[in-house]
Amino acid sequence: MHFIDVVLPIPIEKAFTYAISKREASFIRAGMRVAVPFGKSKIYTGLVYAVHNNPPEAYKPKEIDQILDEAPIVTEKQLKHWEWIASYYMCTLGEVFKAAVPSAFLLESETLILKNDNFDEVLEDNLKDDEWLVYEALQHQSMLKVHEVSGIVDRKNILPVLKRLLDKNVIKLKEEIYEQYKPKMVRYVKLAEQHASDENLNQLLDTLNKRAHKQKDVIMTLFSLEASTKKPIKIKELEEKSGASASIIKALIDKEVLVEYHLQQDRVDFGEMETTQLKELNQYQAAALGEIKAHFKTNDVVLLHGVTSSGKTEVYVKLIEQVIASGKQVLYLLPEIALTTQLIKRLQDYFGEKVSVYHSKYSVNERVEAWNNILHNKPKAQIVLGARSAVLLPFSNLGLIIVDEEHEISFKQFDPAPRYHARDSAIVLAGMHKGKTLLGTATPSIESYYNAKREKYGFVEINRRFGDVLLPDIELTDIKDKLKKKRMNGHFSDRLMDEIQEALGNGEQVILFQNRRGFAPILECKTCGHSPQCPNCDVSLTYHQYRNQLRCHYCGYAMAMQQACQACGSSELDTKGFGTEQVEAELKEIFPKAKLGRMDSDTTKGKYGYEKIINAFEQQEIDILVGTQMLTKGLDFRNVSLVGIMNADTLLNFPDFRAHERSFQLIQQVAGRAGRTQKRGKVIIQTYNPFHQILQQASLNRYADMFSDQLNERKQFKYPPFTRIIKMVFKHKDYNKVNEASAWFAKALHTVFDAHTQTDILGPEFPPVSRIRNEYLKNIVVKVPYHQSVVQTKAAIKKIDKSFQAIAAYRSVRVIYNVDA
Ligand code: ADP
Ligand code: ZN
Ligand code: ZN
Repeated sequence: MHFIDVVLPIPIEKAFTYAISKREASFIRAGMRVAVPFGKSKIYTGLVYAVHNNPPEAYKPKEIDQILDEAPIVTEKQLKHWEWIASYYMCTLGEVFKAAVPSAFLLESETLILKNDNFDEVLEDNLKDDEWLVYEALQHQSMLKVHEVSGIVDRKNILPVLKRLLDKNVIKLKEEIYEQYKPKMVRYVKLAEQHASDENLNQLLDTLNKRAHKQKDVIMTLFSLEASTKKPIKIKELEEKSGASASIIKALIDKEVLVEYHLQQDRVDFGEMETTQLKELNQYQAAALGEIKAHFKTNDVVLLHGVTSSGKTEVYVKLIEQVIASGKQVLYLLPEIALTTQLIKRLQDYFGEKVSVYHSKYSVNERVEAWNNILHNKPKAQIVLGARSAVLLPFSNLGLIIVDEEHEISFKQFDPAPRYHARDSAIVLAGMHKGKTLLGTATPSIESYYNAKREKYGFVEINRRFGDVLLPDIELTDIKDKLKKKRMNGHFSDRLMDEIQEALGNGEQVILFQNRRGFAPILECKTCGHSPQCPNCDVSLTYHQYRNQLRCHYCGYAMAMQQACQACGSSELDTKGFGTEQVEAELKEIFPKAKLGRMDSDTTKGKYGYEKIINAFEQQEIDILVGTQMLTKGLDFRNVSLVGIMNADTLLNFPDFRAHERSFQLIQQVAGRAGRTQKRGKVIIQTYNPFHQILQQASLNRYADMFSDQLNERKQFKYPPFTRIIKMVFKHKDYNKVNEASAWFAKALHTVFDAHTQTDILGPEFPPVSRIRNEYLKNIVVKVPYHQSVVQTKAAIKKIDKSFQAIAAYRSVRVIYNVDA
């Protein structure tokens, strides 16, 4: 008898054993996908984990439906890495599997299938019989669930049939966000057939009206462009090169001298590209590169601490060049891919089609294609650029991982599982490939800097900006004092207004940072003090002026703005606090002539949301850009001379042990957007606490001081890097149940840990927002000293978890583990 162990994409710990035939056993291997029945009527796509001859003891194994792959789609190393993630971050391998693969790899009973956009043009002759049945069913229905297909084709064939229909572009999956990255059509132009030769061209030029010299210019330009580039010519390009207007070109097309045609420009497959030479490094960059390479001889990880605009990217690029020359793959991790069109462009300029971008928002086919290119180590995927989830890809031969902006908190996934840290997982992954990891940032995380200081990582610094541009001059402005002296206009101090005025006068651009979106986070009745709350969550609703709505930032609940207090009927309502919308509204009043832009998650939702704003700002169509922390992430604008931070105190007061570290990083990063060329930039920080240590340190660029202060606090209060944190969140709709369940668990933890370990158990405690989406939350925090085995601690917790799950009353309570939270 032959069996396989199959990992299912669900939060169940163990793999399930299924029976396979002798024929199937002859070619099935770990890392292939199989369609399997589960429970009474479910179908899942599972991953083969092991092939063996041992029947399970506890149950009679079912047979699989189908083998879905001809060869493994997951590599051995990748699977090992996923197992490390599952074990370290206390989740199941199935959850990692689900997060890692494109959703097209994971059809299951409930997946919704829709008609693809070209459904009406499908050639029926190209469909096999069973494919045709599904196609026909979709003629009459707008969508189908996978399990509904079982009435149409043989159960065992459902997933393979759907897989083929996906490949043939007949169907698509519901959750795909296609639109954003759909290929776009670009207009091209060429000489009409009858004029295309030299001789005919001369004839044509002769026949054109003598005064039509502009038309002649266009034709000559096109002719020489075609001859020199031997590539299709875009209409845009012809306009630029010939200096002719669109209407002249259109006239020639109307005369049928030129022919317009359209080509699909794929957003992911960038086609053949011209590349430019790498930049020559200056002495500091060159020295840094040399030191990095020297460290890599003895160290697997190097931290590059280079101030903003010191030219770190160019150093990465040199390393990448050398690694790919040796035939190895490079993974370039970024905190947020949507914000990095600038970087993608830069890398493509150097490396052309060797750069692949992996983005969770790309369409199914595009992601599947990228996956396969990486799996097969194709030249197209030698350099993979991606956010967090790119560490889960099927690399076969990784030489280098670059973690750019390594301090960024968005490298850690919070929801759903796996709650992994991509930087830390990257270091483990590179190790498995015997490759190297380079962490780069202007503001290292406390953890990484600590590892560098105690020589666990190599450490390299660049202390000057490229071109010897000075770091910006950071000024702290006391709002309390300004209010007293009546020198505030709304949320703008006279200092900030003066500087904005001056920058605008010089034709320079301004960035204003406010860490909240919407107009005001709290609406309050002046008479009775009531403020509208979310019905589903334990938070106040934020007022959004643009939509005239009150919205919950936790669950998305929205209601129309109230004209009167719901509690007492008074019509005198006040707002408290302020968000980006309010900053923009005030700017409109104070600087009526300035062109304003706003970048926050309300304005960047649509198609190319980020790109549009970033491009407009780059093209100087926006004078003042207001935004949330999106603004801080590595953007490179040449004409920004002033950065204003509207209120630094909301950052400092955030209830988290990393709040001070993060405030420092945020301030330095957003300040780093100012004065990146020639002229020294200016930063104004508005605050009620100008003497706050962190603000002082940030304004004086005293990273090392900040580090040693924070390190002392972390030591004293038992936080990373001295103590590991395992946070547990208990969730349930029933308040009492959350209390009881978390109390039970805490008691069990104390019993195990109090006696012989230095492990601390804190809680259970309600978090600041203790109800979200109608579920109550309660936290327990387990603190494990770094020198103590965390593996044992986790095993002990898991054991308690097992007993916990066995208690019927608690079975419906969700327990979420967040390691290194
Ligand atoms: P960082 O990543 O450290 O913030 P960047 O790599 O973005 O810095 O470099 C800042 C600016 O300086 C960019 O506009 C970049 O093009 C330019 N630059 C950096 N190094 C060089 C170089 N060696 N030659 C020319 N320009 C450079
Ligand atoms: Zn009231
Ligand atoms: Zn809510």
